[in-house]
Amino acid sequence: MKRFRRLRMQDELRNSIKENHLLKSDLITPIFVIEGENIKNATDAMPDLYRYSLDRLEEELTELRDRGLFKILLFGVPDHKDARGTMAYAAEGIVQTAIKQIKAFDARFYIITDICLCQYTDHGHCGILDDLGEVVNDESAKLMAAIALSHVHAGADMVAPSDMMDGRIAAIRERLDAEGFTYIPILSYSLKYCSNYYGPFRAIADSKPQFGSRDHYQMDYHNSRQALEIANEDLAQGADLIMVKPAMLYLDIVKTIRQSISAPVVVYNVSGEYALLLKGIEQGLVNEAIVYETMIGFKRAGADLIITYFSKWLVDKNLVS
Ligand SMILES: [Zn+2]
Repeated sequence: MKRFRRLRMQDELRNSIKENHLLKSDLITPIFVIEGENIKNATDAMPDLYRYSLDRLEEELTELRDRGLFKILLFGVPDHKDARGTMAYAAEGIVQTAIKQIKAFDARFYIITDICLCQYTDHGHCGILDDLGEVVNDESAKLMAAIALSHVHAGADMVAPSDMMDGRIAAIRERLDAEGFTYIPILSYSLKYCSNYYGPFRAIADSKPQFGSRDHYQMDYHNSRQALEIANEDLAQGADLIMVKPAMLYLDIVKTIRQSISAPVVVYNVSGEYALLLKGIEQGLVNEAIVYETMIGFKRAGADLIITYFSKWLVDKNLVS
């Protein structure tokens, strides 16, 4: 009889033949910066995740640095919103200013910036709208390139377009290359599903659509067959890394593209996933190690990097190497 337990019975052997591990360097921490002064506030949905004004941002940066967490994904919450989201690509916008401040604080921080318009438009959609209220694809893609360029000018290390306009990767790559930023990688939110798991994020980023939904441009969660085609298209346009979002229910997608492409795969463990796990732990329904198991699940499916609100928590609980 084949006895599988031979490899499981002793800690020394079992611990040394684990196929997957969780490292600090696997983790990317989202940070939210907001205009104003002396602000460190949270939303009801995510009570321990804060938005920082720039004068208090160092508090968060210090907490991350103390834990050895240097990869961040930066989101901005501007004061001014308009139809074309102009503050998204303004040289002195909230994100552009934050990038310079973070690099001045400690240049070891590796700054990935979210590229989209939804936090910056008064209608809350990810692109600009035509007279009928429909998102205009090609013109919006050009604006994504303008946002990306403004972030890179400020010192961003990687740009991550999340808008889901067709052709945006090519538009960004072309614009960055033309300006001499040929070495800045693009992380494409290639496989971003129109999900109910984004609710808490929309409150914290203040990016809920004022009307309609995003199902005209985000992926339909009934589907998986298109995933590989989209990933390949983004790679052909110049994407360097491919993201799957959300993460927990979408490991079939992670596995499918992991087996078919060679580019690094990133998962976004989104706000709703975070909130559910945390509430479950707080209420004693599940134990803390469930978070570690979840992260290992991402890696087993094929994720190279994990964007998660749990990064500091994982370090504090000694669940990450
Ligand atoms: Zn958006």
